Amino acid sequence: MRKLIVANYKMNGNCEFFAEVQKKVNDLKVKDTNLVLCPPFVYLNKLNKLNKQIALGVQDVSNEINTKSTGQISPNMIKEFGAKYAIVGHSERRANGETDELVSQKVAVCVDNDLIPIICVGEKTKNSSISVLKKQVQSALSKIKCGKVIFAYEPVWAIGSGEIPTNENINKASGIIKSTAKKCGFDVDMLYGGSVNEKNCVELLKSEIDGFLLGGVSLKIDAYLKLVSEVENA
Ligand code: PEP
Repeated sequence: MRKLIVANYKMNGNCEFFAEVQKKVNDLKVKDTNLVLCPPFVYLNKLNKLNKQIALGVQDVSNEINTKSTGQISPNMIKEFGAKYAIVGHSERRANGETDELVSQKVAVCVDNDLIPIICVGEKTKNSSISVLKKQVQSALSKIKCGKVIFAYEPVWAIGSGEIPTNENINKASGIIKSTAKKCGFDVDMLYGGSVNEKNCVELLKSEIDGFLLGGVSLKIDAYLKLVSEVENA
């Protein structure tokens, strides 16, 4: 089955870095993998001549279509730069006050305007119960009736820490996310994110996931390219 690999560059990079990403990622021959690159908004146009298997995404989107929204970026602006995906509810935004309600509004704005939301959910600490996923999924889908959405299971404690859950735990999370979404009327794909790298990706792929949401490894272009080829050959 085709895997989806989403690179979240967060607030990193500059014109030179994204020129290099554009060149090196375009040179990569991918057959069985779809790639999504999510640079900061201001660098979207540095990645505008990409191969067919490579799509663009953004790291956030406005929660409402209202021109009186200083600093916000609308789906139409995002689409004008060729992006098709938007990460929504990343834990770093949730830590800055983004609530489940705000996440559900952003998901609705995406779906109503033909952007595919990649909705991040995950428990905060290693000891927290993953039952929190059910509430996060139900809330995220509460304002839409249909449309394509993708979930990213990102245990907050695994992000940037070098620690990863067992495949058994990822499977449990996948079960909760997919069955909860199904009860809400959605068949969803689920990515895993949190300390994925070129060395652990093949083992992680043995769990029930549809791909990865990457953070840190996206910034090391050669490690990222290696990861993509490992996924291709897995
Ligand atoms: C992330 O921030 O979504 C993430 C997965 O980061 P990292 O891969 O660096 O853990």
